[in-house]
Amino acid sequence: MTALLAAVLALPVALLLPEQLPVYAADDGTTLKELQQRAIELNRQIRESRQAAERKAKEAKSLTGQIDRIETDIDVTEARIESTEGTIEETEAGIQAIEADIERRQRELDEQRGHQDETLRVLYETGDDELLFLLAGASSISELIEHTEYLESLEEQIDAWILEVETLKRALEDRRSELKDKHDELTALQSQQEAFKVGLADQRAKKDALLTQTKQEQARYEDQLEEAKKLNTQVESQMASIRAKLTAGTGPGVVQAKDRGTSPVGLQWPTDYTYISTYFGGSTPFQPNGGHGGLDLVNSAGTPLYATGDGTITAVEEMRYNGQYYAYGKYVVIGHNARFSSLYAHLQSILVIPGDEVKRGDVIGYMGSTGWSTGPHLHYEIWEYSSRVNPLNYLP
Ligand SMILES: [Zn+2]
Repeated sequence: MTALLAAVLALPVALLLPEQLPVYAADDGTTLKELQQRAIELNRQIRESRQAAERKAKEAKSLTGQIDRIETDIDVTEARIESTEGTIEETEAGIQAIEADIERRQRELDEQRGHQDETLRVLYETGDDELLFLLAGASSISELIEHTEYLESLEEQIDAWILEVETLKRALEDRRSELKDKHDELTALQSQQEAFKVGLADQRAKKDALLTQTKQEQARYEDQLEEAKKLNTQVESQMASIRAKLTAGTGPGVVQAKDRGTSPVGLQWPTDYTYISTYFGGSTPFQPNGGHGGLDLVNSAGTPLYATGDGTITAVEEMRYNGQYYAYGKYVVIGHNARFSSLYAHLQSILVIPGDEVKRGDVIGYMGSTGWSTGPHLHYEIWEYSSRVNPLNYLP
């Protein structure tokens, strides 16, 4: 509970009082009730602006985290694209090497074929006579065999070379085809990665825009918060100056208890007061959900407290624990008759002891702020049989 809220809770009914009580106002004519309503509204604004600013700050933090993650994803994707590019380049180099190899093999093959043709041509052309002789009929059988075998073996050797080169060339062509497939796959992968990166960049741009907007909203709520706080400080000080006048007991509005007479049940008001800060059933900082058991009558510390009616002092107590007053603090109970008792709490000092007979209007003690109290006031209760009742029903 802030001091301001406590002050607001202590005040709420000041201006719902009967006509007898004057309306207190600041120098500019603003009434305490108006100030109090303004304070309640400003406090609501402060709470809402603060919550909204905190919500926006949380959103901004979450967005920043999301952007960081997207940036990491972009970096990873870029590294993948680069690595894919490297692989593509290697593959291209491999294909080129194989193509060069194939060309070389092709040239070798062509050369071999040329050689073969040439060799055979030379053989047939240069050994013209012999050949003719051979074809017509060799001079000797051994000579014929020798020539034929030589030619056959040469042809076989050349055919073997050609076959070898062709096999190699086919293997290289297969390898080139494999590499081309791999190249195509890599290119497709690279396009996918590029598209993914574009998507990520798009996401980041959107998140960036959202973050900027969120931060602007946060700043706006923070401005609203500061403005509301500033206004609230002004309202607080206006209320404080009015309260100071009231509690000084010297203002124009002190209600003299004795001037209000005696009620049909023989009771008078228990003290001179400036205003009633909390009514029966109302809320206080210590009892925020209502159910206040009496009237809180505000005046300065030391204001005399009167026996509200004739009776006997039945209790004089101090609610104190470890040196600290709590709840009623110092209090007195008077038994008036079989039907009514009255209770006076938060006293500064007490003039009676249990068993004392008192007359209506006798001073029994002085106003204070002991126990659960935020400033000098009398907490006044009337008990009818064994229940607390609204004192206004029995006071004049
Ligand atoms: Zn009270």
